[in-house]
Amino acid sequence: MKLWLLGVRGSTPAPGPNFVRYGGHTSCVGVVPTGAREPTLLMDAGTGVRNLTEKLHSDAFTGSILVSHLHWDHIEGLPFCRALDRTTTRVDMYLPAQLGASPRDLLARTMSPPSFPIEPEGLHGTWTFHDVPAERTKIEGFAVTAAEIAHKGGRTMGYRVEDETGSFAYLPDHAPSRGMSEAARELIADVDVLLHDAQFVESERAIADEYGHATVEETIALAADAGVGTLVLFHHSPVRTDADLDLLGQDLESPIPVVIAREGMTIPVQ
Ligand SMILES: [Zn+2]
Ligand SMILES: [Zn+2]
Repeated sequence: MKLWLLGVRGSTPAPGPNFVRYGGHTSCVGVVPTGAREPTLLMDAGTGVRNLTEKLHSDAFTGSILVSHLHWDHIEGLPFCRALDRTTTRVDMYLPAQLGASPRDLLARTMSPPSFPIEPEGLHGTWTFHDVPAERTKIEGFAVTAAEIAHKGGRTMGYRVEDETGSFAYLPDHAPSRGMSEAARELIADVDVLLHDAQFVESERAIADEYGHATVEETIALAADAGVGTLVLFHHSPVRTDADLDLLGQDLESPIPVVIAREGMTIPVQ
């Protein structure tokens, strides 16, 4: 399989001339099955999902969306992507169960008046909302394992996705300093590719702890310890400019290969 990085930013989009090369859209990754031309699985639907329509060969997306958590930067692109809003669209959307609410109602907390003009039913196509499965499950032909991970404000899931040729894990918002369960560690153990929260750097430790995020340095240590093949630093702070990210890349010290996520990048998983 391969990954399309459609949005790599955290918290809020970052437009403007200082954010052109790494991109300003928030979290969204397309997962393209081996031998296919386009994704059948999306990790989150931040504003980066707006990049999907022009990259698809078909008019409408058909597949599943795995939502890590319900913070705005991970779902706010959903109603603004044309490929997700056609009559021929089919989406199975998985959201972390919490507060005793149905997955549809969880989404509707931010996607309904007065916060937003339409409710989930206002999206065209066939939409089905599911709780994130508690057990390893086949979704769109991929083996998907989810586990709760530490972040801040609501329930947050990390995902491990595998096919017959490779594996990746997706933990865009994660505070490992708050502790990791065995299930969380198993998500990332020996994956070929890990996309992980790298919003802050160690000199910003106080704010990383306050906001429930990781630093670049601890992410590298975590990935190396877990036997990860390639680490993709993901969910960049919206104040981190292209020049900042270039510098970050130059100064990196890592025992494993590290890639700084850039919008538009394709990453093979094998
Ligand atoms: Zn986020
Ligand atoms: Zn978050």
